[in-house]
Amino acid sequence: MKYFNEDKAAEQKLRQSATQPESSLLAPTAEHLKAEATADVLPIIQQIDALAETQDISLPFLRRLLEMPKDNAVKYLHAKARKAVETVYGDKIFLRGLVEITSFCRNNCNYCGIRRSNNTLPRYRMTFDEIMACCQDGYKYGMRTFVLQGGEDMWWTDERLGDLVSQIRARYPDCAITLSMGERSRESYQRLFDLGANRYLLRHETADEDHYHYLHPAEMSFQNRMQCLQWLKEIGYQVGCGFMVGSPGQTPETIFKDLQFIRSFRPQMVGIGPFVATQHTPFADQPNGSVETTLRLLSTIRLLHPHVLLPSTTALGSLHPLGRELGVLAGANVLMPNLSPVENREKYNIYDNKICLGDGIEQCSDCLQLRMGSTGRRIVVERGDFVG
Ligand code: SAH
Repeated sequence: MKYFNEDKAAEQKLRQSATQPESSLLAPTAEHLKAEATADVLPIIQQIDALAETQDISLPFLRRLLEMPKDNAVKYLHAKARKAVETVYGDKIFLRGLVEITSFCRNNCNYCGIRRSNNTLPRYRMTFDEIMACCQDGYKYGMRTFVLQGGEDMWWTDERLGDLVSQIRARYPDCAITLSMGERSRESYQRLFDLGANRYLLRHETADEDHYHYLHPAEMSFQNRMQCLQWLKEIGYQVGCGFMVGSPGQTPETIFKDLQFIRSFRPQMVGIGPFVATQHTPFADQPNGSVETTLRLLSTIRLLHPHVLLPSTTALGSLHPLGRELGVLAGANVLMPNLSPVENREKYNIYDNKICLGDGIEQCSDCLQLRMGSTGRRIVVERGDFVG
């Protein structure tokens, strides 16, 4: 079985990681690291404990967490985050089957490969039957949440999307339906909820208004994005916000605002992954976000909001061969395997060098089982609702 297409070295590394204690949960526990801590590390450990206890963070300490060398204090941060997630969700990893239903988009986000102005990309829109077939495959391989994601494609009117949600709801009464179709009207969100959608993913992208305008064209509105998140919550969806790590213009100050926003909004889910520079976008020549910073922020978010459902994202896996395992070891507890037909995947190019472009769900499911084995976690066949 191939896990990295033709990349034998990466596969070898993965297999080793399944048996190496340093990348498994046999890694030092928080207690152990604390007992062994040297005088230089102890003050940071104490501040991490305070962060976990108060579920709050100061800007100077955030800066320190982001800038400190990769040593035992970082290990402690991750160990503490693992402990926090285990307290709420045990050793469970929840799967969300992602179906990328359309690559048409009316928006022109400066970072995103499916932005409207990218006319090099062949566009596609899946049919109802194709989408239902993906759900069927996903169900067979243990998925109990389906995520319908796409660009902001006006073909998907409330009526069509509503029909799709109703069909999935009728056929899979035991599954959660998650939508990730961007900004819509309050009425639209309400209607889709009434027809059986349970969750909605809409990353806020940044909680700093100036930064938002740097990432998006002038016609897009920070207020509207935040308003949509508010509506979704009021309607009763389990809501996911989130942001890219290392997006152009991001600073410790903007990240601090993101964390404060998460603390006050209290979403059920938070999606973060590294920014990936993507061709045919205005940010094509910018540096990628850092895997290390993403891992530190995953742990920080876990400690600030211990009940949150936190995916170890495909973007993280795309920038590091063991990115998703490392994300889980930093406190993530959700994976989002791709159920989309293999022939569409290259066209849903929100960012470059995405992994698993050629893997059908059968292969993907085996691969993830093996990967999670190396972290000491267990993939479960459950909806994986927010506990709180
Ligand atoms: N249209 C939907 C879905 C967008 S794609 C919506 O607006 O919510 C899902 C997420 O992918 C985006 O919210 C963004 O945070 C992320 N993304 C887009 N381009 C990216 C890039 N170049 N690198 C990393 N993540 C990116």
